[in-house]
Parts: sequence; structure tokens; C-alpha cells
Amino acid sequence: MNNTTLPNAINSKQLIFTKGQNAPLISHFRLNEFDCKCSYDDCTHTPIDFRVLIALNRLRDVLGIALIITSAYRCIRHNIDVGGVLNPISKHTKGMAVDIIIPLGNADIFIQLCRQYFPVVIPYLDKNFVHCQFN
Ligand SMILES: [Zn+2]
Ligand SMILES: [Zn+2]
Repeated sequence: MNNTTLPNAINSKQLIFTKGQNAPLISHFRLNEFDCKCSYDDCTHTPIDFRVLIALNRLRDVLGIALIITSAYRCIRHNIDVGGVLNPISKHTKGMAVDIIIPLGNADIFIQLCRQYFPVVIPYLDKNFVHCQFN
């Protein structure tokens, strides 16, 4: 890590980065892959639960192919914009969830693998992604 990738605040589980950094974060993922996809001016930071990061990286290692994250952190307004869960508020708003495109191949095997690394895995087969989260 260099200075641009160091988190500027840490609690026990959450790292908080400045949004918009195209910088390496962990072996297989870059920081901006976790950014909120909105364009609101006040959406300036990206919280990431370190357990999500470790689980994703392990999943990526075991699979041996690139994983595409379609949504990780969402600010509260963006979560509303995309129809995310509100009550209780989506774990995406806390950096505790990631949506991953199901890679080509056997979806069931991929989902089972996700369940080995994430405590909550919700497949959306019609939309070809899996929601993976920590609580
Ligand atoms: Zn946002
Ligand atoms: Zn999700």
C-alpha cells in the first residue's frame, strides 16, 4: 500500500477510503471497484468491510478467474435510486455486501462456493448475479 490507498478511518471491521482511486487494494481488486456508482457530489468515501474484502479475494483465488463486482458500496440515496432494500437498510450502505456477476459455467457450483466464504448469499439468477454479505 502507498499513501493513496491507506484508509483514512478505521473501526473494528470497516475501512473507509476516498472515492475514485484507481489503485490496488488487495491482490485481485482495485479500490474503485468498491465505489458507489452514483454521481452525487457528497458521495465522497467508500466504506469496505474487511471481511468482504478477504472473502472476495479468497473466492477469486479458488476460482482462478476474474470476478466482476457490479455493486459494492452504495450511499443511502443511491440505494434508494436502485431500489435497494430499505428496512432494514441494505448492507450495501455499510460496505458489507457485494454483488458479483455469475461467471460462465455452472451457476450452482459458483453459488455453493460463495456460501463457503460469505454467511449470506442470495442468488438473482434472472439477473445473473449473486448478492453476498456479512452481518
Ligand atoms: Zn453514492
Ligand atoms: Zn446486493
